[in-house]
Amino acid sequence: MKTMTCKQLGGPCEQAHQGESADEVIKAQDRHLKEIVASGDTVHEQALKEMKGRWKNPVKGMGWYKKAKSDFAALPED
Ligand SMILES: [Zn+2]
Repeated sequence: MKTMTCKQLGGPCEQAHQGESADEVIKAQDRHLKEIVASGDTVHEQALKEMKGRWKNPVKGMGWYKKAKSDFAALPED
């Protein structure tokens, strides 16, 4: 298992996400952004907007995705 924080994935807080793969932590971050903004948080609105933009524009989003994957690969195992 490895841990990436909301901040490491482009968000504003220190919430930690654990996963076996980069895809798992990226999915956890997507969920975190949706849930926290739905609960009334405004600090995460920008990060949520960017996340939605990546889905709408996969070519642009790919750069972010590749970076998240290589950051994840560089992390030590928990
Ligand atoms: Zn967060």
